[in-house]
Amino acid sequence: MEENRNEAGSGEAKKPLIVCQNVDFGYENYDVVVGVSMTVEEGDYVCIVGENGSGKSTLMKGLLGLLKPTGGSLTVAEELKKTGIGYLPQQTAAQRDFPATVQEVVLSGCLSRRGALPFYSRKEKAIARENMEKTGIYQIKDHCYRELSGGQQQRVLIARALCATSRLLILDEPITGLDPSAIQDLYAMLKQLNREGVAILMVSHDIRNVVSEASKILHLKREVLFYGTVQEYKKSAVGKEFLGGDS
Ligand code: ADP
Repeated sequence: MEENRNEAGSGEAKKPLIVCQNVDFGYENYDVVVGVSMTVEEGDYVCIVGENGSGKSTLMKGLLGLLKPTGGSLTVAEELKKTGIGYLPQQTAAQRDFPATVQEVVLSGCLSRRGALPFYSRKEKAIARENMEKTGIYQIKDHCYRELSGGQQQRVLIARALCATSRLLILDEPITGLDPSAIQDLYAMLKQLNREGVAILMVSHDIRNVVSEASKILHLKREVLFYGTVQEYKKSAVGKEFLGGDS
């Protein structure tokens, strides 16, 4: 179960990875996100959309366990609790300039699987290699991370996140700073990973691409205004308004 593999297409019922029941998240003594009820299942590709300040990042932090719910109940699948969720944060300038090789950055994704052992095991190296191959960066494994293009750096961070778990990948505005061809490459890779059984949960303001890439939309404005399939979203009043006739 802890292996880096997936069971997509096995014909089994889909397992819930994250279940929110009427959950609230906030800071100090005010709630920013209230009454969230939703389930992320195996194989889902969910995109969280909404205006700036609508609570998207706060909800992400909550789902990642970085913020405690102030109300309701949040249930995370046991195996994700063990290994952590593969998370791709927005990159800061300092992270973009990180002085390490591609392989070192990817391997560091195995840290949440292990204790404080000083060396990476053979198994961890095999997982890192598998994920570098999957994301097409194995040939550049000895290159310096900071010398890569933005698109290649995103691949490295995805491979790193997959080392924690190949069940669920959470991404916060992953296309920020990428040129149009790198954006299309990134979406193609996410779609491929999703086909291979990696559930994807992504915050994005790139609504045009989102509706053709994701399978479900969660539209947030402090509360969940909509959660369902892209097709339903396009037909809904909230979706029509947000898409502004783009669909
Ligand atoms: P979004 O990601 O949709 O732009 P955020 O979750 O970042 O929205 O912010 C939602 C609200 O929460 C905003 O009013 C913001 O000021 C507030 N907020 C965000 N982070 C913090 C924080 N660390 N402490 C206090 N308030 C915060």
